[in-house]
Amino acid sequence: MADRSNEPVVVIGLARFGSALALELTERGVDVLAIDSNPRTVQDLSGRLAHVVTADATDIEALRQLGVPDFSRAVVAIGTNMEASILTTSLLAELEVADIWAKAVSRRHGRILERIGARHVVYPEYDMGERVAHLVSGHMQDYVELDEAHAIAKVGPPGELVGVPLGEAGMPARYGVDVIAVKPAEGGFEPAGPGTVLAPGDAILVLGRISRVERFADAV
Ligand code: ADP
Repeated sequence: MADRSNEPVVVIGLARFGSALALELTERGVDVLAIDSNPRTVQDLSGRLAHVVTADATDIEALRQLGVPDFSRAVVAIGTNMEASILTTSLLAELEVADIWAKAVSRRHGRILERIGARHVVYPEYDMGERVAHLVSGHMQDYVELDEAHAIAKVGPPGELVGVPLGEAGMPARYGVDVIAVKPAEGGFEPAGPGTVLAPGDAILVLGRISRVERFADAV
């Protein structure tokens, strides 16, 4: 597959989510065309984004004039204004932008976006809510769901695993999770192997099915 990581991206809607996304892409060396209908928002970002313009993305002629049909990737970061989000996504599909990402504020909103041409739908509020729930309710220091079934958590090691080489601890059989990396109290993450011996102040990254990762974190 061709490497498309540096192809230019259109980002539409520059509130908190869209502006953070456009700035991060720019930092990574990706050319960004950033669009928002609010001139004030555009003005605020003009010093930090090379191509940021005021336009109504629900106007197909405005999108054409900005050269949007030449892009193969776009992100619709309009959320709360659902009508504008849906209309913009459908216009991008009509303009044959191949890779459309869209932000949804509800599952129903997301299903509509998929049906009208969004290839990827993201739910930042839901995802962050889920993540914070795991941090607040348990012993996890960090938590990321990779898909519907799998997650990675950052936790301290359960006492029974301290001082035992991982290869002898039988983690997959016992807990259904794998330790993929270890971070000593002083220092950065390093890949974990069968010979890795955990110390009490370590943080570990465990990967597995969500229910298993949750159960493992409860045992810490
Ligand atoms: P969030 O939920 O992330 O705070 P909103 O959905 O409220 O974001 O708004 C996202 C941004 O999208 C706002 O900056 C708003 O001005 C912009 N926006 C809304 N409608 C349009 C449109 N038709 N064309 C371009 N930008 C729009």
